[in-house]
Amino acid sequence: MQHESVGVKSILRIIEILRELSKMDDLSLVKSKFPAFPSFAENICQLFLEDRLFDIMPRLEIYLKIIRKYNPQVRPAIDPYVSTQIGVFSKNFSDWEIGRFLGYPNCCIKSFTEEVRYGLDERHFEELKKVKKKVFVTTAGFVPCSIFCKESHSKGLASFLNKKIVHRLNLLEKELSIALPHLHPEYQGHYYDCVETSE
Ligand SMILES: [Zn+2]
Repeated sequence: MQHESVGVKSILRIIEILRELSKMDDLSLVKSKFPAFPSFAENICQLFLEDRLFDIMPRLEIYLKIIRKYNPQVRPAIDPYVSTQIGVFSKNFSDWEIGRFLGYPNCCIKSFTEEVRYGLDERHFEELKKVKKKVFVTTAGFVPCSIFCKESHSKGLASFLNKKIVHRLNLLEKELSIALPHLHPEYQGHYYDCVETSE
C-alpha cells in the first residue's frame, strides 16, 4: 500500500467525524464529544437523524477513492454538495466552529475572522514575491494566515508545488467534478486555489 499523503489524511479525518456523527443516536451526547465545534456537530447529527444526509456518505466514498488515486499533498475542498448539505456555507455557525471542523489551524482561523481576510490579499502577494519557480496551492476556500504558515502545510491545506504536480491536481479536480456533479456555482471544477510565483 502506498504511503498516504497529508492531503489524504486530512480528508480521512473529516470523513471519520461525519461517519461518527451518522452513527450517533443520542443528540445530547454530541456537544461533549465534539467540543471544538459543538453546535455545528449537533446540527449535523440532527440532520442525520432526520435522514436528510442519506446520500452524503456514498458520495464521500467515491470522493475518497478518487483522491487516494492521486494521493495529493494538499487536500481538495470537500465535495461542495456535502459541504452545502451539512451547513459549511451556512451563516448559522461561527467561523471558528466551521474552521475547526475543517481542520484549519487556529492562527489561520483567527486571521480569517478577526482581520477579515476572505481571500488571498496584498499581504499574501507580498510574501509570494519571496518564492520563485513554484506554485502556491491551497485547498479552495482555505485562507492561510501566511503562505509560510507551517501548520497549514503540515495539515495538508497548503504547499509550494512544482507545475507538473499542479497539473496532476488539475486532473484530480476534473475527475472529481465529473464523478460528483453539484450545483454550487463558485465551486464548479474548483477544488484548489493556485497562484504561480515568478520564474
Ligand atoms: Zn496559520
